[in-house]
Amino acid sequence: MSSTTQEKVTPIKNSRNKMTPDRMRYFGHLLGSMGDILHSRFLTKRPRPFIFSLMVTSKCNCNCDFCFWKYHKDNDDMTLAEIQRLMKEAKQEGYVDSILWGGEPLLRQDFAEICKQSHDLGWYTKMATNGYFLEQNPDFGKYTDIAFVSLDAIGDKHDEIRKMPGLYNRVVNGIEYHKKHSPKMRIYICCTVSAVNDFEQLKEVAKFCQDTDILLYFTVNKSNQDFHEWQGKDYLKKLELETDALAETFIKIKELKKAGYPIRNSDYFMDYIINKQNYYECHWPQVATVIYSNGDLLKCTDRKPFLNVRNRPFGEALRSKEFIEVANACKDCKLACVGNYALDVSGLWRFDWPAIKSLAQIAIT
Ligand code: SF4
Ligand code: SF4
Repeated sequence: MSSTTQEKVTPIKNSRNKMTPDRMRYFGHLLGSMGDILHSRFLTKRPRPFIFSLMVTSKCNCNCDFCFWKYHKDNDDMTLAEIQRLMKEAKQEGYVDSILWGGEPLLRQDFAEICKQSHDLGWYTKMATNGYFLEQNPDFGKYTDIAFVSLDAIGDKHDEIRKMPGLYNRVVNGIEYHKKHSPKMRIYICCTVSAVNDFEQLKEVAKFCQDTDILLYFTVNKSNQDFHEWQGKDYLKKLELETDALAETFIKIKELKKAGYPIRNSDYFMDYIINKQNYYECHWPQVATVIYSNGDLLKCTDRKPFLNVRNRPFGEALRSKEFIEVANACKDCKLACVGNYALDVSGLWRFDWPAIKSLAQIAIT
């Protein structure tokens, strides 16, 4: 194991990420999530997820090698009215939080309306974008609490990874636009750690976030089995860093965080990778319901559809035998995929103290 001590960065005065009365809403949301976990765990006999995760379109203008969804593109996205109906029904079922993603969500001209529906329901509203249309389709910023913008390297290298010329410049300009016009929206860079970028490039991304006063989250797609065979292709596996290389990278990322870079991965998450662990008890499907753009619910284990909610009352689907079986099967899942949130949320679900402590530290910074 090698280690490089990073120089401390100077904190930004009046940072846009500083604590404000508005951010108390975020705390309310976090505390509410703990309440929902308690309710879901102890007070109901069936799974009661509360995070509404919706792919609003399968279409995308980029063509990243590590994309989970590139072979799932179709022209069958749900309409705005269908999405609004689902959201209202999900609210009645106790969902409190949404994450809206794609494909590229900003390809939808009605995306701001989708965010508005989520916001009007009182949900803490998050979206994920490749950033190409941030300035061209900007109104979502009025209704969104957090935007996750992908950036895997600085300059042409990012365009190369995402196979989209001009993307990096549009991300930079789009972020500046929203810092000005969407002052309450927190902006995170989402940087995918894979075999296509190295630590120096990751550090440049961290520096960019520090200089532009936005937050940073490193994502990893990793499982301890051939999870990526679901499409009959192993292209994703080839882009994963090996366990040792990934651990080395996260040792250095953790040092960047300690030095003051605005990295918001939990220590709980990073220590799991650094310690080369390969199993945790996952509870993600009991917490979040992931809905594909045509209304399919997909099993996270093989990404195959098992229910469709497009023309069916959402509450009826949640109470169906198929839904309950799939959600409860997660406790026996051995894949232990290190997705964006599954590890942290599962730690909270189990009331694992290091997870609670580490996520609370992130909340107050
Ligand atoms: S930007 Fe996202 S959705 Fe689009 S190809 Fe890349 S990983 Fe896939
Ligand atoms: S580890 Fe969790 S999120 Fe991953 S496939 Fe298994 S149940 Fe699903």
